[in-house]
Amino acid sequence: MSQIDGLPPLREVIATHDLRAKKSLGQNFLLDLNLTAKIARSAGDIANADVLEVGPGPGGLTRGLLAEGARKVLAVEKDERCLPALQDIAGTYPGRLDIMQADALTVNPLDHLTPPIKVVANLPYNIGTELLIRWLTPDKWPPVWESLTLMFQREVAERITAQPGTKSYGRLAVLAQWRADTRIVMDLPPEAFTPAPKVRSAVVHMTALPAPRFEADADALSRVTAAAFGQRRKMLRASLKKLTPNIEDILKSVGIDPTTRAERLTIEEFCALARIL
Ligand code: SAM
Repeated sequence: MSQIDGLPPLREVIATHDLRAKKSLGQNFLLDLNLTAKIARSAGDIANADVLEVGPGPGGLTRGLLAEGARKVLAVEKDERCLPALQDIAGTYPGRLDIMQADALTVNPLDHLTPPIKVVANLPYNIGTELLIRWLTPDKWPPVWESLTLMFQREVAERITAQPGTKSYGRLAVLAQWRADTRIVMDLPPEAFTPAPKVRSAVVHMTALPAPRFEADADALSRVTAAAFGQRRKMLRASLKKLTPNIEDILKSVGIDPTTRAERLTIEEFCALARIL
């Protein structure tokens, strides 16, 4: 029995329910409940919040979140093999864990929660970036969520938090930092997971800003960054030409050197371009 909740250790849960990890579902499980409690704490104060967890698997992080006092957790899991293990956790925390068996890409579980809402997840790597982009681009800002605390491959975490002029700086950094504060709060070696993935991982904590840092239309910013970073080695006058033929004049009008490359532009400059284009 574990000290934090009286439930069996996760290795035993996995053996009991025969939860052999499936690569196709991005299953790399965290079995150390001290570690999952630490991830839960890195989400800030969850005691008064509803938490969305995507991909609870055998429930290591779910147990961390509940033990750390989350008001309510909604866990969305695609793999039905995990449901009995999750039901056992729900029984230990009556009324605080809702389980939804679904593909997180086809449902909008945020609709089922009451603000303040925090999203905390050890995401399957194959859908992590897609879910992040969705959470960062809702119809209205501020979004319904207050913060996102998400595990990614270390390389993706660096792309989210990157500064201009660095190798990792790209579309993801601009879209994330335009409307959120982002920082890497934990680093995890492959051995922290079972089975161990090939690469290192990191937890990124993102807090939604009340309003975007600079004025711009979200679709326009998305298009400009897609064009600019789609050909990141080209000068902006070439990479952005497909958006408008007189791009050189437009760049000059907002004080940007047309021979600059995308990775040198600040978020403020991307927003200025989005407003004009
Ligand atoms: N949270 C658990 C942990 O930390 O040990 C498991 C994390 S594992 C990296 C990713 C989890 O996401 C797996 O349980 C997998 O079955 C689930 N998953 C994969 N694709 C999914 C999808 N489209 N929708 C919901 N869950 C998904």
